[in-house]
Amino acid sequence: MHPDFDIIIIGAGPAGMSAAIEAAKHGASVCILDEQASGGGQIYRNVSNSKQDQVDILGKDYLAGRQYVDGLRHDRILHRAGVTVWKVDKAGTVVFSDAGRAEQIRGRHIILASGAMERAVPLPGWTLPGVLTAGAAQILMKSGSIVTRDAVLVGSGPLLYLVATQLLAAGAAPKALVETQTRRDLIAALPHLAKALRDWKQLFKGVRMIAALKWAGVPRFKAASDIAIEGEENAEAVRFRAGGKDHCIDTNIVLLHQGVVPNTQISRSLGLEHHYDHTQRCFHPVIDEFGQASHPMFSIAGDGAGIGGAKVAALSGRICALNALARIKKISGGERDKRVRRLETSKRTELSIRPFLDTLYPPPQSVLLPQDETIICRCEEVTAGDIRRYAKLGCKGPNQTKSFGRSGMGPCQGRFCGLTVTEILAAETGETQDAVGSYRIRAPLKPVTLAELAALAETNEKEAAE
Ligand SMILES: Cc1cc2nc3c(=O)[nH]c(=O)nc-3n(C[C@H](O)[C@H](O)[C@H](O)COP(=O)(O)OP(=O)(O)OC[C@H]3O[C@@H](n4cnc5c(N)ncnc54)[C@H](O)[C@@H]3O)c2cc1C
Repeated sequence: MHPDFDIIIIGAGPAGMSAAIEAAKHGASVCILDEQASGGGQIYRNVSNSKQDQVDILGKDYLAGRQYVDGLRHDRILHRAGVTVWKVDKAGTVVFSDAGRAEQIRGRHIILASGAMERAVPLPGWTLPGVLTAGAAQILMKSGSIVTRDAVLVGSGPLLYLVATQLLAAGAAPKALVETQTRRDLIAALPHLAKALRDWKQLFKGVRMIAALKWAGVPRFKAASDIAIEGEENAEAVRFRAGGKDHCIDTNIVLLHQGVVPNTQISRSLGLEHHYDHTQRCFHPVIDEFGQASHPMFSIAGDGAGIGGAKVAALSGRICALNALARIKKISGGERDKRVRRLETSKRTELSIRPFLDTLYPPPQSVLLPQDETIICRCEEVTAGDIRRYAKLGCKGPNQTKSFGRSGMGPCQGRFCGLTVTEILAAETGETQDAVGSYRIRAPLKPVTLAELAALAETNEKEAAE
């Protein structure tokens, strides 16, 4: 099969869109694929169709995404929206489904820009109806103008404050924020403050959000522990301990958030190298300064390579595009190096706030290592205690847990439970997270129907006959 495109990009967030625009500018033919109905990724979801009232709620940073979406209208860029990539191989073939039909295309170089996903927050009661992630509540606002009312937000991190203030702007002030970061986290983060001040605008934005919540009288409970969501059929209350007292807040909507982690399903399925990052408490694919992964066919851009935020994602997308262009000989290695040097300087400045944020808002131990009764694999209903029991029986790695009790074998393919299983096994065996490793991911990355597979077989037969 001849390559159909010079470069295929998976993910149309800031990383993927800026990679596409940079690559097309240098004469490459590009196909960019994304599950969403329009370009934007998580931060700029649905930005090209957003109405004024949505923009008023989501803030003016949201509008910054329009320039990227507009940039995709280029005669060398084919944007396939609403398609799900479920297989990628090392020959550069990308298989995806579009409205129930599978297709495959081939590229000379592939840029993975599949972004981040919210860290799973396995607390007692997190599987009850009415419990969402904060990001999910934001998706409802961005894509459907649906606002969750009387929510209690539980967790920590900038996105928790952002969603809380967006709810406020939508006239649906949260009932409370139950935050897990502690004074000890603040003290640990202080040495990183001077560096973070290089991005003082971002810091100021955070301070403004917290001030807005205070001004609106939204109660904030800090250093909360022993958090449990209670309810019979639905979430009914959040119980926790803070400031030396027990608290219980009635609510039917709980929004959980403990930061975001790279979505490594595709890079894992390709067997690319990964390492565990102890500051961000998650796995990152191994890349060099050009975003080049451990196989020459693949570069990785944006949050999928390590959490840096939207501006870093856009810069890294451009860097990966220049790397891909050099690989396929559209530009020389010297030109790539010269252009990347300038982008690297901006990227370093944008990243200066990260150590402060990552240290100030770490996931608490109770989320990394949940108590025994808590379900961690939602698809197969496996608890943290089950994983500990498997470890005692000699189970050494996440893949073995599949034979012990099917964890990670449901439709989400371990996206939700993968990191938790690694953390529990590392704690139980005394090994590092790198030594324990993670689930082996195989295609199809997302559930596909038999009809989709059959359509692919038909396409293959037709191509073979031609
Ligand atoms: C739910 C959520 C909400 C967020 N909201 C904000 C926010 O409001 N403000 C902010 O500053 N930061 C936000 N972030 C963080 C933000 O995602 C990043 O900082 C930034 O958008 C990363 O850009 P990216 O291009 O790397 O990835 P993303 O923007 O995440 O884009 C990745 C894209 O890849 C697509 N994709 C992934 N897998 C596949 C597949 N198999 N097939 C097809 N397409 C695929 C996704 O649909 C997505 O559009 C959010 C993160 C999450 C998880």
